[in-house]
Amino acid sequence: MKWSQSLKNNTSRSLQTAPFIFLGLVLGLVHIQWGFAAHRCIHDAAIHALPAPLHGFFKSHRDWIVGHALDADMRKHAIDGEAEKHYIDLDRYGPDSQFSPEVIPKLWKDAQLLYGDTIELHGIGPWATMKTYQNLTRAFFHQNETQILRSATDIAHYISDLNVPLHTSSNYNGAQTNQDGIHAFWETQLPEQFMSVYRLTPGSHPNMPRAKYLSNPAETIWKAAFESHLAVDSVLRFETILRTSMGPENSFAYVQRGRTQQRLHSPEFAYRYHQMLDGQVERRMQQSIFLCASLWYSAWVDAGQPILAFTKPEQSATYLQRIWSWLSI
Ligand SMILES: [Zn+2]
Repeated sequence: MKWSQSLKNNTSRSLQTAPFIFLGLVLGLVHIQWGFAAHRCIHDAAIHALPAPLHGFFKSHRDWIVGHALDADMRKHAIDGEAEKHYIDLDRYGPDSQFSPEVIPKLWKDAQLLYGDTIELHGIGPWATMKTYQNLTRAFFHQNETQILRSATDIAHYISDLNVPLHTSSNYNGAQTNQDGIHAFWETQLPEQFMSVYRLTPGSHPNMPRAKYLSNPAETIWKAAFESHLAVDSVLRFETILRTSMGPENSFAYVQRGRTQQRLHSPEFAYRYHQMLDGQVERRMQQSIFLCASLWYSAWVDAGQPILAFTKPEQSATYLQRIWSWLSI
């Protein structure tokens, strides 16, 4: 990647670059999520947090699970009702929701009864994650390998998204506080720049334990969302403080991506922000890995610990079969 402090004059080639700009915009929209590398890393590390014999099954399907880590995000643009599974705007439920998880019904039926149709407007992340947990448990019980892989990959994605603070706020991309772009900055640019120093190997660090059985998965899922929401304040406030002290000319830089230039926070800004957050992104990734592995493990235990064959997934599916498989949740 090439960084520069100013935008080059691209007028003369604007027509040539138009398709790339459009592609950039599409990719930009897709980027409203843990970045590609972070999602893949979380799915991969979670496999290593599992105990035997479940570890063997997941390891034998590692390529499929890691390769499909972003399927749920791609479905957002193709399937009605998918986008709201990736977030919940907890601030829409009143300020008490930050400190009183009891405010919101944890059972989907109770929540629907209380909030009616408005429930989907503010995101349904925790309920969707719990529903996927039930699907995974059922898939384990029936030893349905295809469904196990789909549900396991999706639940890993959903619980990872809920561990991103800005996935729990209506100010998810800083529009309400004049901080446009902070979403991708926190969850994509920071992990891309600092992932190599994050301690993400299960069992290697007190914050990075191996999977454990969750006796109340719904409660755990909601707790993760509330913990994320408590971090929203520092995510936004620290960025404002640092940008004010560094000034716009040092806070942002242009990066050459192919034939287009993109305005991002500068590497120096990212480094200082990373220091101010004091390991926050790393901790949210560690938590994502631990919860992902624990949800997989708990669903398998709840299903009666079935013996699963360590097989390779079907590789001979045609392109159309793979598309159909991807669309059929
Ligand atoms: Zn997502």
